[in-house]
Formats: sequence, structure tokens, C-alpha cells
Amino acid sequence: MSMSKEILWEKCLSKIQLEIPTESYETWFLPTSPHSLSEETLCILIPNNFYKECLQQNYHELIKSSLDSLVRTPLNIEFKVALEKPEQKYIDPFLDNNTHDKKITSSEPTCNTINSRYTFSNFVVGSSNQFAHAAAHAVANSASLSYNPLFLYGGVGLGKTHLLHSMGNAILEKNPQARIRYLSAESFTVDLIESLKKDEMPAFRNRYRPLDILFVDDIQFLAGKERTQEEFFYTFNTLYESHKKIILSSDKYPKEMQRIEERLRSRFESGLIADIETPDLETKVAIIHKKAEQHLKIIPHDVAIFIAEKIKTNIRELEGVLLRVVAYASFTGKDINLPLAQEVLKEFVYDKNKNFNISMIMKTVAGYFEIKVSDLKSKTRSRQISIPRQISMYLCREYTKLSLPDIGRQFGGKDHTTVIFAHKKMTKILKEKGELTKTVNKLVDIIESGKTL
Ligand code: ADP
Ligand code: MG
Repeated sequence: MSMSKEILWEKCLSKIQLEIPTESYETWFLPTSPHSLSEETLCILIPNNFYKECLQQNYHELIKSSLDSLVRTPLNIEFKVALEKPEQKYIDPFLDNNTHDKKITSSEPTCNTINSRYTFSNFVVGSSNQFAHAAAHAVANSASLSYNPLFLYGGVGLGKTHLLHSMGNAILEKNPQARIRYLSAESFTVDLIESLKKDEMPAFRNRYRPLDILFVDDIQFLAGKERTQEEFFYTFNTLYESHKKIILSSDKYPKEMQRIEERLRSRFESGLIADIETPDLETKVAIIHKKAEQHLKIIPHDVAIFIAEKIKTNIRELEGVLLRVVAYASFTGKDINLPLAQEVLKEFVYDKNKNFNISMIMKTVAGYFEIKVSDLKSKTRSRQISIPRQISMYLCREYTKLSLPDIGRQFGGKDHTTVIFAHKKMTKILKEKGELTKTVNKLVDIIESGKTL
């Protein structure tokens, strides 16, 4: 083993960071550190058992695939709860109850509070996000509560978090005393669990209830977490009734959110709901130019178009690719041009499709629709099962090298004509660009990221 555990984990983290939202990265990965490394196993230190559960459930595949791409022989991953708090790489954002009402400086942790990097001025507006942008702008710049709560929804990497922070920055600019808290639903959950464990619920409530504005990002994380939903419901009501603003983001429309209590869902729907759609080519190109500008680079227009065409939906990914192109050019001392971008993208496309195999597709699709993998292989023809099955078959055909008979066999011994039928049907539906297209795009993103549901 030539790499030290520190370097290996550092490299692994930098890969993971590219794949998941900043808030999730900061919540789950910043508090980790490498414990030990042997020929077979990397052991990672984590703050408590809740982290273990969450990392194993949600990020195991991602950690594994990131690690495997760095070492010759695949490693096992183990988690170990740190007895003492790991050296203060992890700064508890809640330690000081009074810090949330001031704007943070760059030396302070940006998790759970407003990040000055994301502003309205560096958010590119296009037809896909025009409505969400206008709504965010209006809510941030007016005292009116007519749009309370504001519920922003859209797929992964489309700018929800960016808009939330932009609002926070705009509000703080006007009123630096505003008591604002930004946090992800994941952090809210962690805070609640820790507070319950330490029997510190009054302090927990005091952190949220006196706020002027509460931002909760990725609210879909609350699905299935009854105790957290209950506590969030009370927090929501207290703020709402005292005429305080609540701004939420989600990757799903409230009605589509599963395992969320009805009373909470109806609160989500009671204000303004604005969605962000996948960006069109022009918006993507404009974003590339804007991001390059922030890195003090100029990207030739044909390169920007090439990248924008290749990366279909996710803007985070668009940014990741742009950074790779810029880094590659600077490491090799070459100019940024089309052949160079093509070279970099070739490797990227290979990396992306690596996670597509039949079991990952089945697991992800079944998880998304909350059915069992065995349902996909069954003969059941109900719509609830047949649509996910057809989507899975379509993805297997598009993203793996399996033959039609092979695919059929793996779906409980179906004939290859069934696969052809499913593929044709899905291709037609996807052309219509309705709700199902969004769902399929989302599934592709999830599988690419190597996460399991
Ligand atoms: P989401 O929260 O929807 O998953 P993010 O807000 O984290 O997505 O956006 C992912 C990345 O893409 C961020 O770096 C963000 O700055 C960038 N981004 C998304 N939309 C835009 C936009 N319209 N203009 C500029 N940057 C954008
Ligand atoms: Mg986000």
C-alpha cells in the first residue's frame, strides 16, 4: 500500500465532494477522518453511531466506488465511532446559540448558515429557473408574507441551494441583524437526535423558534423520519404563526413526497411552490462562462457548447467537468480548446457509466418507487409495478452492454420482445418531456452518483 491513509482519504473526499450537494458533504464527510489502513480495509472515524447508520445506508456505494478508483485492489470500509471528538475539523455549528444572527466570515464554518459564495448576482437566469428566481427574489426583498412558505423544488444540482443562500445573502445585506438560520434537513435531524440524546430539547427549540427566517434545504430527507417530522411541524407552526419566513427546498413536488405526514405536506403546499427545471443549452453555456469567469479563466465558446451538450442536466456536474478541463489544461500546460475538452470528457463519460449495472439499476428504481426488486422480476402487470419495470429495462438497454435476451432473463425470465416493447414505449414517453422524463433523469443522476436509495 503506497498511499498513506490521510492522502487516500483526502483524495477520496475530493471525489465525493464533486458528487454530492455541499450541505450533505459538510454534514456527513467533514466530521470524518481516517483511522487506520491495512491491505484490505480502510477504517474511518466518525462522531457517533448515527453517522455510521447514515453513511452506510446512503453513501456506502459512493465511498466504495470513489475509493476503488484510487487503489489497485478494492478495500473494505469500516466505520469506527471516535471516543473523543475528532480534532476540531468538525465544528459544532450549534455550540454558540448567538452566532446565527450574524453574518459569518470566511474563517467560520459555512455549514448550516449562509454561504456568501452563492448570490443572486452570480446566479444565471434562464427559462428553466426564471420563475423560481423571481419568487426567491421577491421573498428576499419584500416584507410581505404572501408567499410563506416558499417551497422550491427541482432535480439534483439545478440551483436550489444556490438560490436559498442568495436569498440569505440578500436579506443579510439589507438587515445584518436578521436572525437567519440556513440548514439542511439532514442537519436538522442530526441536531434533533443529539439534543434528544443529551436531553437538551429546550435548547434545541430555542435555536429555531426565535428566528426571523428559517431555510431548510432538501426537506425530502425528512421522509420516513416521524420524530423529526413532528418536531419540524412544531417549529414550522411556531414560526409561521409569529409571521416569520420559512423557505424550503426539495427534490420532489410536495404531492410526490412519500412518507411525509399529511399535515406537513399541506403546510408545504400552503404558500408558493416554484420549480426549477433542467436548463436549456443557452443557460448551460451562460453558466459555464460565468463559472469560468469566477475562476479567472476564459473558455472558448465552442468548448462551452461542447460541455453543455454533453452534460444533460446537472449543473454541479457541469461545473465539475469545467473544473477538470481547466485543471487538465493547467497541469499539462496546454491551451483550453476543443480537442482538450474532448479528451477530458472521454474519461468522464467512462467514469459515469461505470456505476450502471443491472443490479444497481434495479435497486435504485425499486427504491425510488418504493417497491421490491423482486416485484420488478415478477409477472405482476399493475401500473405501479409495470412502469418501474419498463424504466429499469430501458435503463439496462441504454446504459449497459447487456443483450436483449440477457436483460429479459434477469427480469424473471421474460422474453426479449418484452424488453424491446419496454424500450420503445419509454423512448416515446421520454420524448414527451413530462413528469416521467424528470423521474428518469433523476434516476440516471442517482445511479451515476453511485448512491443507493
Ligand atoms: P441543488 O441544491 O439544486 O442540488 P446547487 O444549488 O447546489 O443545486 O447547484 C449546484 C451547482 O450549480 C452550484 O455550484 C451552483 O452554484 C451551480 N448553479 C446551479 N444553477 C445555477 C445558475 N442558474 N447559475 C449559476 N450557477 C448555478
Ligand atoms: Mg442542494
